[in-house]
Amino acid sequence: MEANARLSLAIAPFDNVLNSPNPEPALSLIRTAIVAGLAAALVAAPAAGAFAAPLFAPAAKASATKAAAPQRRPVRFAATAPAPGGLLVIPASGADQAGARAASLLPEQRAAIARAAKAAGFSYGARKTLVLRGIGDFDQIILLGLGDKPAANDIQMAGAVIGRALAGDTGAVTLLAPDMDAAALAELAVGFGIGEYRSDLYSSDRKAAAAAPVTIVADAAPAAAELYRARGLPLVEAMEWARDISNEPANIVYPESFVERTRAAFAGIPGVSIEVLDVPAMQKLGMGALTGVGAGSARPPRLLVVRYKGAGAPDGGPVVLAGKGITFDSGGISIKPSANMGNMKMDMSGAAAVVATVLSLSKSAAPVNVVAVGALAENMPDGGAIRPGDVLTAMNGKTIEVINTDAEGRLVLSDALVWSERNLKPAVLVDVATLTGAVGTALSDDYAGLFSRHDDLAAKLTSAGAATGEDLWRLPLHPSYAKDVSSTIADIKNSGEGGAGAGTGAWFIGEFISRDIPWAHLDIAGVAYGAPADWKPAGSAGFGIRLLDRFVRDWGK
Ligand SMILES: [Zn+2]
Repeated sequence: MEANARLSLAIAPFDNVLNSPNPEPALSLIRTAIVAGLAAALVAAPAAGAFAAPLFAPAAKASATKAAAPQRRPVRFAATAPAPGGLLVIPASGADQAGARAASLLPEQRAAIARAAKAAGFSYGARKTLVLRGIGDFDQIILLGLGDKPAANDIQMAGAVIGRALAGDTGAVTLLAPDMDAAALAELAVGFGIGEYRSDLYSSDRKAAAAAPVTIVADAAPAAAELYRARGLPLVEAMEWARDISNEPANIVYPESFVERTRAAFAGIPGVSIEVLDVPAMQKLGMGALTGVGAGSARPPRLLVVRYKGAGAPDGGPVVLAGKGITFDSGGISIKPSANMGNMKMDMSGAAAVVATVLSLSKSAAPVNVVAVGALAENMPDGGAIRPGDVLTAMNGKTIEVINTDAEGRLVLSDALVWSERNLKPAVLVDVATLTGAVGTALSDDYAGLFSRHDDLAAKLTSAGAATGEDLWRLPLHPSYAKDVSSTIADIKNSGEGGAGAGTGAWFIGEFISRDIPWAHLDIAGVAYGAPADWKPAGSAGFGIRLLDRFVRDWGK
């Protein structure tokens, strides 16, 4: 019964003038079936065969059916407002601007809005909202504060706040911004789409987004529509992809299914090629660190490489973005405490961010040369697992003493960086990882940690972060960290002495790339996921995609 109801929702017609078509039926149905199938397999399997192949078969199907029912309203831009009704949003920095933007309303409606805003003491501060009812034919009129002199990312975040606030409403939404320029209008639409994202992937109550559109009314509508189509929507879709794959539980997303979902997401996009290294291929290359981390799991590791070269891309080596993709981090033999261990399904957020960045760039046909490298493994403690004290040999022959099997992100990245340097000849390499708890202790969720020996690269990343609202704070790579990670039995050890946990982790990774290649490490452990906020639900924040999309487009300019 319920399944049928969901199916009809999913196939209900919806306007996709600007939203890309979404041909796959009711994912929730498929997901339900998969979970049921897994449960049945677990019950049916004999103890010794609990991790045998049949367990994986249904989940492998899951990865082929990527998308859910539409998560977003269709977006329209129009020069004139539709008939009064539904939800009307007036974004403004102050009362005068709100009055001007509401010029298409009747004089008594404008007066009522002004009176109500004044009576409520509404300040039009950034991301503040005031809901008014009983005015004209509108179900609600919502004043959306933009704050003083909003930058592009402030407008995007205001859009996200209103997108999230209205995600459960079914009525048509009209945003009045007649004088806003095309770039700001596109940001508003992007934000609205980001804000509509829902993380309740397996909730029986999960519904498709309203079929009624959001209409953004402005004089610059045609130019805004083109900007949104060309660049905005690909970014929204990429963030949605990254947050979905991060929020998915680890019984659904593991290295092989991560690869399959990547293939599905990129199918048919010009200029993209995907390469995948399995365990025998990695062993042949001597990638003992990455394969070592995956050795304790029944789900084998992978190295995922997504290349994109757009028409008009500059000559020279690509921008390489390498991501930590631990699809579940139990800690391994150095097992983590139970509290919040479930969040470790999101320990692949770095890999999700770099793949999604290339998704956004390729879908928007950006004139760039970029490669995402995902170091994918599940860190589990079975009889094949690496132990504290073990020595692993990375692809470049460097030997690594494993002090702590929970410091596995740097291990998988070490082989990913060596492979990237040898096979991609990077012009620049940025790695992205939920690497250390220490970075959150230092920077909370206000900043991701940035480590680099290349000042120009650090400056470019910092400014891309500031422009997109994904802020970075540069932390040191002090030469003393070399001593902190020195081993008595091997070339290096994977856990540092001393207190700079985020810094020694970064130092370790930097030992696996030549110093003349511009390299930066982003530790996103404090910002990649968390509690609900005004612009996002609980779970993945999709951190890094906006920042890296901007960084790659600007690289070399
Ligand atoms: Zn770990």
